[in-house]
Amino acid sequence: MVQKSKEKYETNILIVEDEEDIAEVIAHFLGEIGYNIDIAYDGQQALKKAHPWTDLILLDVMLPKLDGFEVCQRLRSKSETEEIPIIFLTAKGEDEDHVRGLLLGGDDYLIKPVAMDVILARIQAALRRAHIREVETINVMGLTLFVNEFRAEYRGRDLGLTLTELELLSYLIRHPRQAYRREELLDVLWTDSKMVTQRTVDTHMKNLREKLGGFAKYIETVWGVGYCFNDTVSYEEED
Ligand code: CA
Repeated sequence: MVQKSKEKYETNILIVEDEEDIAEVIAHFLGEIGYNIDIAYDGQQALKKAHPWTDLILLDVMLPKLDGFEVCQRLRSKSETEEIPIIFLTAKGEDEDHVRGLLLGGDDYLIKPVAMDVILARIQAALRRAHIREVETINVMGLTLFVNEFRAEYRGRDLGLTLTELELLSYLIRHPRQAYRREELLDVLWTDSKMVTQRTVDTHMKNLREKLGGFAKYIETVWGVGYCFNDTVSYEEED
């Protein structure tokens, strides 16, 4: 069996999903969080793309060529892939399918539709159980984002951010000095943007800024556009 280092800088997630829209949305969301994403659109592709460096597989059940249960079984029967955490993500909500998925060696079973933050939380839990350490903190201008712990500190003080606020902040910080329109930020944050309005972004930004304290000065409102993380701002006054 190929040994892989447990201390890594990249976590590789394979998304197996034949509905391209869904695959793209999940890939985009997880990619923004910092995961390295690969997508397989059918069961055979999934078997080809799963390798010893794959850290986790999100596996749809109803798939062309080979269904997800079959894929899971085959992955579990090969030493190179037997230990990869597998989370079923499926529209099949029957108890018997759920049980079957787990009996075949799946680590978790999520029924679509499911919120992105739930998928993320389950992924993180599965990775923790597999002892795959993710090393990700982002340090900028006195602020530290602990990406995997869902929290941020500014000058050593925990900011108490919600997941949504954290996502907003993280996205802006990862793309410094770029102004984003509200609808672009909505795309980053929610899978079903029909549920929220652009004003929702403003509300979250307002709350975020209040919690950020002295760091808020780096999050600029760009009139007529949206928001921007600007690390070149300098103010005279102390926080
Ligand atoms: Ca499917």
